[in-house]
Amino acid sequence: MDSKQIQDLVAHSPVVKDLIELKETIWFNPALTTLEQGLPYVGLTQADIDEARDRLQRFAPYLMAVFPETVASNGIIESELIAIPAMQQSLEAYFNQNIAGKLWLKKDSHLPVSGSIKARGGIYEVLYRAEQLALQANLLSLDDDYTKLDSPEFRQFFSQYSIAVGSTGNLGLSIGIMSAKLGFDVTVHMSADARQWKKDTLRAHGVTVIEYAQDYGIAVQQGRKAALKKCNCFFIDDENSRTLFLGYAVAGERLRKQLEQHQIKVDQQHPLFVYLPCGVGGGPGGVAFGLKMALGDHVHCIFAEPTHSPCMLLGVATGLHDEISVQDIGIDNITAADGLAVGRASGFVGRAMQRLLDGFYTLDDQTMYSLLGMLNQTEHLKLEPSALAGMLGPVLVSKYPDYKGLHQFTPQQLQHANHIVWGTGGGMVPAAEMQQYLAKA
Ligand SMILES: *Cc1c(COP(=O)(O)O)cnc(C)c1O
Repeated sequence: MDSKQIQDLVAHSPVVKDLIELKETIWFNPALTTLEQGLPYVGLTQADIDEARDRLQRFAPYLMAVFPETVASNGIIESELIAIPAMQQSLEAYFNQNIAGKLWLKKDSHLPVSGSIKARGGIYEVLYRAEQLALQANLLSLDDDYTKLDSPEFRQFFSQYSIAVGSTGNLGLSIGIMSAKLGFDVTVHMSADARQWKKDTLRAHGVTVIEYAQDYGIAVQQGRKAALKKCNCFFIDDENSRTLFLGYAVAGERLRKQLEQHQIKVDQQHPLFVYLPCGVGGGPGGVAFGLKMALGDHVHCIFAEPTHSPCMLLGVATGLHDEISVQDIGIDNITAADGLAVGRASGFVGRAMQRLLDGFYTLDDQTMYSLLGMLNQTEHLKLEPSALAGMLGPVLVSKYPDYKGLHQFTPQQLQHANHIVWGTGGGMVPAAEMQQYLAKA
């Protein structure tokens, strides 16, 4: 973009000025509607989510057989919801901001198999693909016991097929580990920002890792090209996949049950705020869709991005979605939050979800590191930098309860509010790497 085009963009969407200046900023969504009004634009329904849930249920016995860590949850890959009162106090003191209501952490950081939110969508899409292939070949029927997939015959069958994906790290881990376990020939195309240990882990699982000196967008583009050349190769498209999105969306109904167990109400008088770190958008978008479907209009979803990679805020605020990248406005897309290092958002997710999201904010890498250290000190939990992006959200909503004039929460509603920070990753980070993160706090 030339400077005149950028000027026009800023005139149309003033928040873009903050983005260009790499300022921490918050943008509340003027296009927010009710679920009823916004749902038709998503193009997916409750029946689609139910189908995904049922598929995961069919695979549960298989997952228990091949990943013993899933036995405790009967083969369902799900995380805990925990209260973090010490962290809440520490946030209030550090930011000098009272946070009304109660603070919770959704520990996707500790999801079985791959230790990040990608254990939802990534694994689901591989299972979807495997089931399709096995059904088409008449090797499987829907009411079979899927533990039969854990056999030399099935691994031999799947080895005729390839799976490929482009990733900043965690998606590659989930898809690589799951695909290799089933027997697929799997290749992960990794962007420059991917951590070395993630590449090493994948190679140890028998996954082919191809490294790029460029960012996520290039890794995806090259991966897609390579996959097209191979026959029997399926490319998992993080930018556009409805399947991946639905794998994430199953979280909504499960969280609703957890909220009931904790006796947390969600209604007009008890708003629920959920803060989701956003990279390309599939993870937070799918989870937000599931949450809206399960809990309705009184769940308020807010996305968080690094100041150096605010692709979804940029796409939604300008209405240009995947037709603009952060590089177009002179931002480098270089961040320590490797799971969020994405320069161009998913056009599908932005267009589908833009009416159902309350807002978007950005934060510095250093803020994420500080929050990482604070969570470790107060709650003895270790998360990766990306996973802390949501932690600033409760501070911001408390600071702008009227959403800068767009909405209005009364003090009484906020007193009864619950804030869930989606802790998206970190469970598999090696100890030495974690020490380096903590040292930066
Ligand atoms: C991938 C990822 C996200 C965001 O998911 P997207 O689908 O890329 O938006 C957030 N946190 C972590 C740790 C991730 O790995």
